Amino acid sequence: MQYDNYDKGLLIVISGPSGAGKGTICKALVEKKDYYISVSATTRNPRAGEIDGKSYYFLTREDFIKKIESGDFLEHAEVHGNLYGTPKSSVLEKLDEGKDVILEIDIQGALKVKETYPDGVFIFILPPSMEELKKRLIGRGSETPESLLTRFNTAFKEINYISKYNYAVVNDEVNVAVEKIEGILLAERCRVDRVKEIMLNSKEDFINE
Ligand code: ADP
Ligand code: 5GP
Repeated sequence: MQYDNYDKGLLIVISGPSGAGKGTICKALVEKKDYYISVSATTRNPRAGEIDGKSYYFLTREDFIKKIESGDFLEHAEVHGNLYGTPKSSVLEKLDEGKDVILEIDIQGALKVKETYPDGVFIFILPPSMEELKKRLIGRGSETPESLLTRFNTAFKEINYISKYNYAVVNDEVNVAVEKIEGILLAERCRVDRVKEIMLNSKEDFINE
């Protein structure tokens, strides 16, 4: 009997203002370990280079609403005027397989997930400063002047919700932010309440061995 057999994967929820670097960090995390990054559905238009089914599932509003009605989403929310949602079945399947799952979702979605999965790991990514956030959003070249303003205004509101998260990580250098997250996840896997559950579950096996 060994105590390092974690039955279920960690549900990792990453939020933070648009442009803080969530996508960049998630990409770097996946290059280092085999995390499953959930692919969300959205009604927003694809950006240059985005691939349907890989970046997002790009849906019409009508199709998105049908999926809400069929209960296909773990959570969904309207962000910057577009609908976004996390497909439920793939996330639950991966967790059951023991795979760590990353959801890169907004604060409304994270709060909904926290109600159903309070033992998830909730991480908030901060930019080093609001000036740097603005620079990154402009540098990404993805926004019109209007959408830039919406995202920047939303950022100020979102930062007020940081206390709902378990961890805050400033993304100054990508490598350092990734190392911090790896440290957080390492510690999370050792939390007594997670290990205790494994020990209790394995008691029967031990008696029967
Ligand atoms: P988000 O997913 O949070 O909206 P992105 O990952 O798309 O943010 O990052 C926004 C922009 O900032 C991108 O152009 C990205 O290359 C850049 N960026 C991300 N992290 C850093 C960093 N630590 N230093 C400098 N630029 C960064
Ligand atoms: P973007 O349009 O820049 O890709 O994403 C805009 C915002 O939507 C980001 O804050 C991102 O985290 C969030 N988002 C992406 N997918 C989902 C999702 O499935 N659910 C929720 N609630 N938010 C999402």
